[in-house]
Amino acid sequence: MAGPLKTIALLGATGSIGGSTLDVVARHPDRFRVGALSANGRVDELLRLCARFRPDAAVVADESAWPALCDGLAALGLPTRALAGAAALDEVAADPANDTVVAAIVGAAGVASTLAAARAGKRLLLANKESVVLAGDLLLQAAREGGATILPVDSEHNAIYQCLPADGGRQGVRRLLLTASGGPFRGRRRAELEGVTPDQACAHPNWSMGRKISVDSATLMNKGLEVIEARHLFGLPASRIEVVVHPQSVIHSLVDYVDGSVLAQLGNPDMRTALAYGLAWPERIDSGVAPLDLAALARFDFEKPDLAAFPCLGLAYRALEAGGAAPAVLNAANEVAVSAFLQGKLGFLGIPDLIQACLDAHPGGPADSLEQLLETDAEARRLAGDLIARMRRP
Ligand code: NAD
Ligand code: MG
Repeated sequence: MAGPLKTIALLGATGSIGGSTLDVVARHPDRFRVGALSANGRVDELLRLCARFRPDAAVVADESAWPALCDGLAALGLPTRALAGAAALDEVAADPANDTVVAAIVGAAGVASTLAAARAGKRLLLANKESVVLAGDLLLQAAREGGATILPVDSEHNAIYQCLPADGGRQGVRRLLLTASGGPFRGRRRAELEGVTPDQACAHPNWSMGRKISVDSATLMNKGLEVIEARHLFGLPASRIEVVVHPQSVIHSLVDYVDGSVLAQLGNPDMRTALAYGLAWPERIDSGVAPLDLAALARFDFEKPDLAAFPCLGLAYRALEAGGAAPAVLNAANEVAVSAFLQGKLGFLGIPDLIQACLDAHPGGPADSLEQLLETDAEARRLAGDLIARMRRP
């Protein structure tokens, strides 16, 4: 039997991870109900989800969308409470009525609600990797103090979580090996990346994802953010976290032990596996993902990442080694750069150039409080905005 119903707060419900989460939730009405759904400003999409999942609360982060949300809920005849603004995200993340929080907002915009869920002792399904990059130490501390269970759902970290010793220790672990698909431009040299378009960058060979993480995958910054994420979640130094390119995206990551054993988690590239794992842990439930057909796959390939063509991965290691708030500078500069690239205001090669210039110009500084980190985040965004005018145009 499934046990008592779990009530889920899904932050970032209208996104790619949001949709995959609801797909799994809908398969198990005996296990899960939806307590809260949030979106940035896409009210129509949020209302469609409210009509289907009947949450207790619906949140729009953009306060100007609140009247439309109220009207829409009334028109549907739903008793769902309509909330708006960043504080409302924190409120539903900490609400005692919700036992599970899925952190699926994109970017640093998710950090406060992720921390609120950790502080409130939730089962926290962590997709919002930028919040770990920005405030990893604070997040882990909040989870310890609040008694939260962090279940990584980024596929690589979910794989590592599954392959680490069951007692939660690190005994005998030599290295973590994060796999990277290499993205849509794998195999190209730097000169061949000049002039690539946002649509080309977002055409990922294996995964269907939001546009920001798709660009991050194309620059390899996604893997850089994931190295920093792994450092916080698993407590191993950067020197013991390596990246290997595996174009098929079937081996989601590996743990290398001192006796020579290497444990891997495999599966079709579909986020529903990691989400089902997090939702039901320590049990296993059907996720809707097709069984793996190894004979049809026939082969697995591996190669080293090309740091000359894709400098973002090296920049992430640099920020991790610098420590303090340097990862916050890296993350903010990357968010500004990716947004400018998607708007046609910065070329693809301008992304690493801008991030490097920000890391060169901003010392980072201490990372002791969220206020301090958000201040650094804002400074780095201003700096990136100033520098962008001088960078490579598409
Ligand atoms: P997405 O762009 O598809 O969805 C983002 C969600 O965040 C939407 O619901 C949007 O309304 C909300 N949002 C955007 N800006 C916001 C703001 N300022 N305030 C509040 N809400 C806001 O993104 P996604 O691909 O679902 O990714 C979500 C997170 O999960 C990212 O951190 C990403 O790195 C991580 N992740 C995604 C995948 C994937 O397969 N898509 C895999 C691993 C990790
Ligand atoms: Mg990932």
